[in-house]
Amino acid sequence: MNQVLLITGGSRGIGAATALLAARQGYVVAVNYRQDVAAAGQVVASIQGSGGQARAIQADVSSESDVERMFREVGQQLGTPTALVNNAGILEQQTRVEHLDANRLRRIFETNVIGTFLCAREAVRCMSTRHGGQGGSIVNVSSRAAVLGSAGEYVDYAASKGAVDTLTVGLAHEVAGEGIRVNGVRPGLITTEMHASGGEPERVARLAPGVPMGRGGRPEEVARAILWLLLEEASYTTGAILDVSGGR
Ligand code: NAP
Repeated sequence: MNQVLLITGGSRGIGAATALLAARQGYVVAVNYRQDVAAAGQVVASIQGSGGQARAIQADVSSESDVERMFREVGQQLGTPTALVNNAGILEQQTRVEHLDANRLRRIFETNVIGTFLCAREAVRCMSTRHGGQGGSIVNVSSRAAVLGSAGEYVDYAASKGAVDTLTVGLAHEVAGEGIRVNGVRPGLITTEMHASGGEPERVARLAPGVPMGRGGRPEEVARAILWLLLEEASYTTGAILDVSGGR
């Protein structure tokens, strides 16, 4: 039976690195993206060029109907998912809490929290032995921001990742007897395009001297931790949240 992995936000950054590594480990990979079809296509082409199997699937994870359609399409095109990486996430312009408004809070929480919950729900429906599934593995991509709080930058984003950590622990306990492991990673400062969304593309370089290891991380370094948690090598690990942050 094929091991089928769905990665949300798999078109760039940490998600793309995870897609490429997972394909090398033998997963059939569904690369979800929201709008950047070209970037998703590049990841798929790279996997196929190395003899792997992958498809790009557009869906906005904050939309319940999109998430349901995405899981249906993965099932039809690649097979029932046996693994999910809940990676899609957003942040917005750096600011202080007194400048946040409800619309921004809704956008952040709809993608980072509701999207993560909806995808986890669909994965459980596919994987749980309670629903006739074969079991599986889920990894939620959180952030060290959940612990550090991101003061003066994006406390909303940090709080949304705190919710993701709570989901990881609660869902892990809920489905532990149904063949599903649920774990999380908390990346630190990783060099991706995400920091440009906060208005500071060079943020990693500015903050790197304060990291105990003295540098930012690469997406591939997070991908390796995600893959370890996904795979059977981590067969007795559930409800765990692994910091991948150079000590920060
Ligand atoms: P990135 O380079 O900005 O890539 C984000 C990905 O998410 C893209 O593929 C994007 O697709 C997708 N996406 C965004 N909103 C979506 C939505 N509503 N539905 C579906 N896909 C959506 O980000 P990254 O730095 O790799 O971050 C990946 C994850 O790691 C995020 O959860 C982030 O919070 C977390 N993280 C990152 C860092 C860091 O320093 N970079 C640190 C800690 C945690 P489109 O391009 O098509 O919109």
